[in-house]
Amino acid sequence: MTIMRQVIKRVVVGILAFCSFAAVAQDDAPAGPILFTNVDVFDGVNEKLMENVNVVVTDNKITQISSEDLAVAGGRVINGEGHTLMPGIIDAHTHLMFSGITFPEVLFQRQSYGTIQSTLIARDTLMNGVTTVRDMAGDVFGLKRAIDDGSIPGPRVYPSGAMISQTSGHADFRLPAQDNPMFGGARPVPDQKGHGAQVDGVPQMLAVTREQLRLGASQIKLAVGGSVSGINDPLDTTQFTLEEIQAAVAAAENWGTYVTVHGYTTRAVNQAIDGGVKSIEHGQLLDKPTLERMAKEGIWLSIQPFTLCHEDGLTDAQNAKQAIVCEGTGKVYEWIKQMPDLKVVHGTDIFISPGPGIGVSEEVEQMERLLKWFTPYEILKMSTGNATELLQLSGPRNPYPGDLGVVKEGALADLLLVKGNPLEDIKAVSNRDNIKIIMKDGKIYKNTVN
Ligand SMILES: [Zn+2]
Repeated sequence: MTIMRQVIKRVVVGILAFCSFAAVAQDDAPAGPILFTNVDVFDGVNEKLMENVNVVVTDNKITQISSEDLAVAGGRVINGEGHTLMPGIIDAHTHLMFSGITFPEVLFQRQSYGTIQSTLIARDTLMNGVTTVRDMAGDVFGLKRAIDDGSIPGPRVYPSGAMISQTSGHADFRLPAQDNPMFGGARPVPDQKGHGAQVDGVPQMLAVTREQLRLGASQIKLAVGGSVSGINDPLDTTQFTLEEIQAAVAAAENWGTYVTVHGYTTRAVNQAIDGGVKSIEHGQLLDKPTLERMAKEGIWLSIQPFTLCHEDGLTDAQNAKQAIVCEGTGKVYEWIKQMPDLKVVHGTDIFISPGPGIGVSEEVEQMERLLKWFTPYEILKMSTGNATELLQLSGPRNPYPGDLGVVKEGALADLLLVKGNPLEDIKAVSNRDNIKIIMKDGKIYKNTVN
């Protein structure tokens, strides 16, 4: 390398390092315990706030919560008067690798472009107060690694890896002229990028499930029924056979984890539950008996308020399916409201965006949309305390062992300090300006208090 090139490289590296630092500066205050004084605490579970308490964070854990005066030797004190300390938001259903780009870009652009956009989205996601995501399809492993090793800011990621789908299923994005890969055709583009995996039959299902586990999946995601975005799968279809689903479940359970499935309809979801899956993504077209079965059998519902019946960026065919899902959404939320035993988490399903770098505002908008059915407490619990148990289902594959989504002694320190009381006005969280401190794993990523 010539000296000139070395100089240019150093300058470029220096500029990039400065830009990333300037965009999200991790707090450079001295290491040591952090004491939040005079805060009200929403613990992620209870509707009643703990009022006027003091909370200590040591390293990456919450170590003390007390109404007594506390002191931290060599530490730092943050006066939280007038603020509420609460768990970081957990988005139970995202696609970081498909965010910040349009639908055609998912299919037709080089992956490097998508990766850069997802890096920006990961940062914005964290800066919206979302400290953990369950990533429900996408080759997110490299992004997760770069976040975890501190190279870039972003939320904790529970990766699924490729969404596993059958020929003619949700992730089969081949055009009509493209032959099936089983018969010499090219694999669908999302499969080539590691975002999808088109499989048929038990042996392929076992191989591809084990492949995701090998890459570090904390749970496995199958598509077991028709989708909105898929171009070859009508909404009413049931995908995979019982034996194929059972094969994925067996491979996942041999690694101590679980299978979750994309599914809207009663038929598709009941077959998946028969096959041993533990969680349903979406479910907007379910009937009441299926929801009751889920409540009885402890099956999780990870649902999104799909109340926009037409979305720019979708084709007419996709929007026709979106309209049907949209119609079912309100009905299912009303039934959920009547079923306190049903385990429900909130996920955004941020998937495509109107343009580069846009998309994370969805998290905020959806929280406000949910007010049509739920109280702020119910909404925030779906995004914090409820998710704790779901994340534990990953067992030994859990990349972040410990309690997330709750404020209690011993839990991991993913915390938001927000202005006001979010249980009275959800804007205390959904308005980004009201989030004064964002802490993940004990590190402060935003601080506009002191
Ligand atoms: Zn999704």
